[in-house]
Amino acid sequence: MARTVSGSRRSPQVTGTSRGGLRRKTGSFEQMQWDPKRNKMRSGTQCRFCRAGVKYIDYKDIETLSKLLTHRGKIYSRKRSGNCAGCQRKAKRAIKRARYMALLPYTA
Ligand SMILES: [Zn+2]
Repeated sequence: MARTVSGSRRSPQVTGTSRGGLRRKTGSFEQMQWDPKRNKMRSGTQCRFCRAGVKYIDYKDIETLSKLLTHRGKIYSRKRSGNCAGCQRKAKRAIKRARYMALLPYTA
């Protein structure tokens, strides 16, 4: 029986560069946002409410609000949901109102 030695198949693991964050380019950095799904920079707003031009987030709109919740009923962070600060606050208020009206769960 000729067994092949598979122990030497390990990848060399080049971990010399441990850059912390993104390298910031001067100038148009404000327009660009990091997209964790595609692993590259992306231009324009990522906020779904700003893109749709929403002024007021309705607490009765459960379909939209439930996209901002985990399956346990927790609110996704801004980093996760991609909302801007203002829309995250509006969404937070809407979700909490919806919870009070028993449209959304506090916990599931
Ligand atoms: Zn927004």
